[in-house]
Amino acid sequence: MVGAAGLILTKVMCNGMNRSLLSVLFGGAIGSTPSGGNDSGEYVNITSCSVEECALTLEAAERVVIVPGYGLAVAQAQHTLREVTRALEGNGIDVIYAIHPVAGRMPGHMNVLLAEADVPYEQLKEMDVVNPEFPATDVVLVLGANDVVNPQAKNNPSSPLFGMPVLDVQEARTVFVIKRGMSAGYSGIKNDLFDLANTSMLFGDAKKVLGDLLLELKELGISAKA
Ligand code: NDP
Repeated sequence: MVGAAGLILTKVMCNGMNRSLLSVLFGGAIGSTPSGGNDSGEYVNITSCSVEECALTLEAAERVVIVPGYGLAVAQAQHTLREVTRALEGNGIDVIYAIHPVAGRMPGHMNVLLAEADVPYEQLKEMDVVNPEFPATDVVLVLGANDVVNPQAKNNPSSPLFGMPVLDVQEARTVFVIKRGMSAGYSGIKNDLFDLANTSMLFGDAKKVLGDLLLELKELGISAKA
């Protein structure tokens, strides 16, 4: 039973990365030489913002998509995230969660994490369902996710991630990326999303930032309805 479950999970993971088992075990995606949108693989256009700016943008939004990743699990921020989304919903803002099949460190990782925080199952949207919806999205909150939102997977044939399906968050009006610094994700490569004009970095531990965001939203009169 355990062996069979492991094999099934491995297959789901390979499908999610669009890779064969052999290339996952021995191939180039993991720990490869950084290969970015510019020759050096360095960031050239990073914009960072404050929690206040993020709260004000959220206040004006009608539709928000949450993208959870490995860092959300590390920070154990799922319950604070749920408090934030309850506040947004209480203000009439439409909130959904975009689930990439290999976000986190095992298939289904994000589903389990969000279920723990009582996120309604119908708000979890698979990648193929949510990708066409990003152009009509006001704000995306990327929470401790990195590789699963890297446009290199579609735009850069020399990238080790090229060919892996990703969430097209850059199509949304505004993207906030919440992470502690500029560290790479599991693949070890630069993320071109962070350099885009509609992306703002909100640096800090996911749980701490979400806690601060909750306070800011409260100051703006945005809180969960009883
Ligand atoms: P990534 O591993 O790509 O990125 C996680 C990000 O979280 C890091 O860049 C890190 O940046 C940030 N982070 C870490 N701790 C915190 C924290 N406390 N608060 C806020 N941010 C934090 O995660 P993704 O979920 O996007 O992608 C999963 C990756 O794992 C993919 O490459 C996938 O292929 C791979 N993988 C997935 C498996 C699966 O079955 N799901 C299995 C094996 C691998 P910083 O340090 O700057 O904060």
